[in-house]
Amino acid sequence: MRKPRLMTPGPAPVPEDVLLELARPVIHHRSAEAKQVIVEVAEGLKQVFQTKNEVMILTASGTGAMEAAAVNTVPPGAKAIVLNAGWFGSRWASICKAHGINAVSIDFEWGTPVDPARVAEALRAHPDAVAVMGTLSETSTGTGHPIEAIGKLVAATEAVFLVDGISGVGAMECRTDDWGIDILCVGSQKALMLPPGLAFVTVSPKAWAKIDAFEAHSFYFNLKSARKKMKEYDTPFTPAHTLILGLRASVRRLLAEGIENVWSRHKLMSEACQAGVRALGLELFSSRPAEGLTAFRVPEGLKDSAIRDKLTERFGITTVGGQDKLKGKIVRVGHMGYMDELDVISGLAALEMVLADLGFDIKPGAGVTAAQQIFIGRKQAAVQA
Ligand SMILES: *Cc1c(COP(=O)(O)O)cnc(C)c1O
Repeated sequence: MRKPRLMTPGPAPVPEDVLLELARPVIHHRSAEAKQVIVEVAEGLKQVFQTKNEVMILTASGTGAMEAAAVNTVPPGAKAIVLNAGWFGSRWASICKAHGINAVSIDFEWGTPVDPARVAEALRAHPDAVAVMGTLSETSTGTGHPIEAIGKLVAATEAVFLVDGISGVGAMECRTDDWGIDILCVGSQKALMLPPGLAFVTVSPKAWAKIDAFEAHSFYFNLKSARKKMKEYDTPFTPAHTLILGLRASVRRLLAEGIENVWSRHKLMSEACQAGVRALGLELFSSRPAEGLTAFRVPEGLKDSAIRDKLTERFGITTVGGQDKLKGKIVRVGHMGYMDELDVISGLAALEMVLADLGFDIKPGAGVTAAQQIFIGRKQAAVQA
């Protein structure tokens, strides 16, 4: 028997109090009790997302939020600039294609961040672009993108800024309003500490103006209908209400910790994980790592599946490999949501034992020590301050 340890960049572990909510009897979604839950989560999520804008709750996986954002703001045939630096950046282009949106893809090398100078250039070259579509945390490469800098550029134009924050929100700093994000897309199963099944979008007044200017070609993902119902703390269709009960518990957790503290916890865990991985002689994949996961290159002579399978067999740890052109080249370890310092340390300890088993030349304890030094150093700095 192995204790299950889900160290993937979504789904991510769900805390016990949230799980207990999910075990409660189903109530009717239009009851006063159900409405009360939506009132609380709608307000709480504004703090989590750092926005004064309305938050719409969709019953879908995270991609549903992206599709809703795209199809409601950009009419078919109109232009959108897609910032493409990985598998999820390219998902924006695929969504555009499915809806007849003219996507201008600005491509960046996988593992590197989007360069704001090239975004500025694209905005100048395409003044008719209705939207710019970006990613806060590119999960396929473990890269965090400079959303604040890009948001400033987009805010100075007529275009709206749509951001896939699905693996980033709750795992790294994200200030929706201050950074000029018009629509932030979030999914439930990453740093929000829930199972998959809910998606969220925040919508700015600038984005509502685009949405009100035409009829979106979607019935289910229609943000005008969602807005109308949300005014009464309701949803147009039957929501995954059991998950919304769980959401209330996870939002309470996030607010009790304080969103800035949640961000610092993740920053620290990511720094420690990176230090641990490097101390084992492994190479980080990203030049600007995201904070909810760490991606490292598979060392010469080893197979990613050998490392990942052994982590599962010996320690019950689930990780993921690379997607698309990174298949077999990287291993990605999640440390988002219901995770703490010891999860990072035990994950590194397990990695050390597995690498040693596979004959890779490492010094047991080297990764753990490097991570501990980050945690100890930070604590001492906090005491001295
Ligand atoms: C997980 C993820 C998605 C996809 O979410 P689904 O819930 O599988 O639809 C999209 N973008 C990013 C950055 C993600 O990490």
